[in-house]
Amino acid sequence: MPSAPCDTLRRQGYQFFSRTSTAALKPCMWCKRALTGGDMCYKHQFYGIASHRCVQLTPTLRCNQRCLFCWRAVEEDVPEEEECPPETIFAGVQKLQKRALAGYNAVLDNTVTEELWKEALTPNQVAISLSGEPTLYSRLPELICLFNSAGYTTFMVSNGTNPAMLSRCHPYQQYVSLAAPDRETYLSLCRPFEDSWDRIRESLVLLANRRSAIRVTLVAGLNDFAPERYAALIQDSGAMFVEVKGYMYLGYSRNRLTRENMPEHARVRAFAELIAAACDYQIRDENRLSRVVCLERMT
Ligand code: SF4
Repeated sequence: MPSAPCDTLRRQGYQFFSRTSTAALKPCMWCKRALTGGDMCYKHQFYGIASHRCVQLTPTLRCNQRCLFCWRAVEEDVPEEEECPPETIFAGVQKLQKRALAGYNAVLDNTVTEELWKEALTPNQVAISLSGEPTLYSRLPELICLFNSAGYTTFMVSNGTNPAMLSRCHPYQQYVSLAAPDRETYLSLCRPFEDSWDRIRESLVLLANRRSAIRVTLVAGLNDFAPERYAALIQDSGAMFVEVKGYMYLGYSRNRLTRENMPEHARVRAFAELIAAACDYQIRDENRLSRVVCLERMT
């Protein structure tokens, strides 16, 4: 490093924790919006997370899938010389988040109150979900443990291809993505380096008896069929929540998909209802702006 892909990411606002790894953070749009007194993201509505105190990070940008709907440049490898130690990530969070939010400083921006700015500089939530597959990072359990011990709530989003690692991780809320109702659709939509469908099914079952959520990204015309098969997989998992979320036509996914692949909220809601009707889950909440519906297990 520095490499061309990392330079591009840096220009996009990524803050790297070290020069030789791809561990990085980048505040999401909602963090900045909340800081200026605007709306918070749907995770505030569903789970009480304060967006301006949330750090979105990843311990690695490597991934073992090339999902068509991914917003990152999956066609381009991001080189990683070595993994960043968990202690370095943990120690760098506040400094890098402050750097990433520079310009939103209460003194410079009169839409940001002193109180919100102070809160933003002491984050209390970590979303391990920026980009890349976090379970490819060998020290993920330690990293989560460091944040948990310091009082952060931790959300970890995995593509489910690595159940062995998932079983060793204990975030506050564990997410596993389910992007297809069957193997064939999974292979064509997620384009994994190797067929991981059976491992994803194993990961889903690991969600029982813990605070957990399944993320279904609905791509119109590609995976928005067979709600009863999604329902069967969800039922077997025992996950606490399911988020059925419409694909958003953003970032590099625009090179692979079209605007027509983005379902309207009404379509997302109708599909979520069909899933709920076929398993022991009920609709708990929804957010039209983010085109997401939250289901909750009834028993
Ligand atoms: S698993 Fe996640 S990071 Fe990897 S390609 Fe798919 S959406 Fe992108």
